[in-house]
Amino acid sequence: MPSHSLYESAFLAGPYGAFLCDAEGLFTHVNPAYEQLTGFSSEELVGKLTCVALHDPAELLRRIAPSRDGVSIESLARQRTEWTYVRRNGTRVPVSFQLALLPAASARPARPDAAPVPRYVGVAVDMSRHAHTEARLWYVSYHDPITQLPNRELLVERLELALSRSRRDEKPLTVCVAEIDDLDLTRAAVGPEGADLVLALAGERLRRLAGGEAAVGMIGGDQFAMVFPGGESQVGDLAARLHAGHEENGQLAGGVGHAEGERGAWPPVSLSIGAASWPQDGNDAALLIRRAGVALSEARRAGKGQLCRFSLALERRATRTLDLEKGLRRALNTSQLFLHYQPRVSLRTGGVSRSEALLRWRHPELGLVSPVEFIPVAEQTGMIHALGDWVMATACRETSYAQRLTGVLPHVAVNVSARQFANPRLVATIEAALQKAALVPSQLEIEITESVLIGDAERTVSTLQALRASGIEVAVDDFGTGYSSLAYLARLPINRLKIDRAFVMRMTGDPRSAALVQAIVSMAHGLGLAVTAEGVETAEQAEALREMGCDEAQGYWFSRPITLKALCNLLEPAMLRASR
Ligand code: C2E
Ligand code: CA
Ligand code: CA
Repeated sequence: MPSHSLYESAFLAGPYGAFLCDAEGLFTHVNPAYEQLTGFSSEELVGKLTCVALHDPAELLRRIAPSRDGVSIESLARQRTEWTYVRRNGTRVPVSFQLALLPAASARPARPDAAPVPRYVGVAVDMSRHAHTEARLWYVSYHDPITQLPNRELLVERLELALSRSRRDEKPLTVCVAEIDDLDLTRAAVGPEGADLVLALAGERLRRLAGGEAAVGMIGGDQFAMVFPGGESQVGDLAARLHAGHEENGQLAGGVGHAEGERGAWPPVSLSIGAASWPQDGNDAALLIRRAGVALSEARRAGKGQLCRFSLALERRATRTLDLEKGLRRALNTSQLFLHYQPRVSLRTGGVSRSEALLRWRHPELGLVSPVEFIPVAEQTGMIHALGDWVMATACRETSYAQRLTGVLPHVAVNVSARQFANPRLVATIEAALQKAALVPSQLEIEITESVLIGDAERTVSTLQALRASGIEVAVDDFGTGYSSLAYLARLPINRLKIDRAFVMRMTGDPRSAALVQAIVSMAHGLGLAVTAEGVETAEQAEALREMGCDEAQGYWFSRPITLKALCNLLEPAMLRASR
């Protein structure tokens, strides 16, 4: 019958494994694809094995409760799911398996003694390729693409598991969050691929060092996380091993982006690490990770390669920083910010030669917040640019006003932080502020710290030159507390050194401090620089400084930082004196 041979050839040529079996499941026909799938030949199957026999027995038992004669064909036919086949060579393969009852007519034997007639038709599709894709999909969605470490989701899952084990065994557990120091600088130096390589190497290193007991992952933002059994005492140990390992790692990565021969020029990679432990620091995965992150921020602040453990005091500080950050954004658009001016006095004439503008912030709830506290927050968040622009514009405007009111021309000094100084717009912003206030550039002095001068040398020099070219003066603030490579003093176009309060404070009681101040004054004069002493609190200090030839002094002995109005009142008598 042509129709019969058509079915038959379709059956034989089908791309999926297919078979026919009798009421007991004994094979009556199998196609080549089925032979290939199972590894059994048609001779080994037909009339010899049942279609139940190829299934993984454990899986069958789990899913189908067997009757007295084993697993029934009817119950197998009812389940349309994935199964595991055991091949002839013992390997396993996932199959999508379907068994269907054939129409009654084709199943009825012509004679009672005739060969068994097929009752069921079965199809088995090899799912291993799909399973592979699925596994790949799982891998991709739960691993970091650069380091191949588990991502945040998977790590949290593992942490939760470890936590429940710790609770059961009543043993402590620690979560560390770690970050490669200055990865941004590395990225700028060797490009994103180089930085990725450093990350990947670091990840590999962490995985090996953390050992089998620990779980390592990436929780985003280039941060690693490690979960390991043990409490505080073990953390230090691990940190020491990590650091030792990472220095080696840095040398390994030293070749990236460097020409041959420059290898090893790259400084060792160091890690900042924050740690939080169960039970004392938190009871759930999210809290432990967050608190290890709080500790990491502190480690970062403490300098490179530090380990910091979480504490509630740290968290309070972090919350305060966050409050300040939020508050500062609002403060800029309201009148919470204002300037105070601290007079600087000429030690030769005794008159006020200039004033330093000092930023003040009155927070509606927290009250007066010190710039020592909020300037670093503004630096970290980048708000320093907007804040600095406001200070510059206000100081210029108010100084111009004071000049018009009092008729004297006091200069003004404005603090410029390291990050502000690095801003390419700095000089243009200052020039605009001066112009708007109708202030002569030579009446403005900017105060920068030594840390600014050791930064990007080329850019620093060109910014300083641009400032000097427009007539603006530059003073080095807090002199003596920084890194003090004295070589830069001779090389850079600066006008003045401001000796830090710490030296002035000890000067009258400690001859060595006095000698140091004298040495700074002499050296500065030798280089053609003016000198201001900061933090002068007693008449004795002022007199000693005058005798040393120091040009200018600033401090509570002369005046605390005062309002603009108070400054004007202070200057007016000077005007009257001058006119007499
Ligand atoms: P600074 O530039 O060294 O300013 C001098 C600080 O010493 C001021 O503190 C001043 O009030 C204080 N001071 C002055 N004379 C004496 C004294 O005789 N004894 C003592 N104990 N202290 C004295 P202040 O106003 O709290 O400012 C602290 C720091 O905040 C400043 O140190 C400066 O680094 C920063 N700052 C203030 N305003 C600004 C600003 O507008 N921009 C930037 N970038 N930083 C600012
Ligand atoms: Ca200053
Ligand atoms: Ca200072």
